[in-house]
Amino acid sequence: TLGMVVIDINGGVSAGTSTNGARNKIPGRVGDSPIPGAGAFADETGGAAETGDGDVMMRFLPSYLTVEKMRDGCTPTEAAQIAILRVRKFFPTYMGAIVAANKNGDYGAACNKQQANGMTTFSYCVASSATNNATIVTINCI
Ligand code: ASP
Repeated sequence: TLGMVVIDINGGVSAGTSTNGARNKIPGRVGDSPIPGAGAFADETGGAAETGDGDVMMRFLPSYLTVEKMRDGCTPTEAAQIAILRVRKFFPTYMGAIVAANKNGDYGAACNKQQANGMTTFSYCVASSATNNATIVTINCI
């Protein structure tokens, strides 16, 4: 999945995800990507997008939860971590990551640390008109 959060020059917030790659292209499967609040969510507070085990994550609306936590005052990273931990409470070994940004342009991400498949870090890209370039950010999973 490709997930994206965009803040435009007027402060408008958008978020979206592509559909999943070949692995889960099962006839009839909807998955998390097109479900608002699961694959992605955005409102005037900020936006979030997730990737990972969609059939697990979609049950917790992690993108919606991330935005709600930013509304409560959390940084994007704190908010994404809360959502990651919410899913982990029930599915300790799931694979998942969330990117988030608020309307001020602050951004962050979180991912579930998985010893089994070796996912201990997660990389995402940040682009800004202020810096006129794109930067790869790598975080440690929690
Ligand atoms: N979340 C996607 C899905 O389960 C998979 C992915 O993020 O790559 O359909």
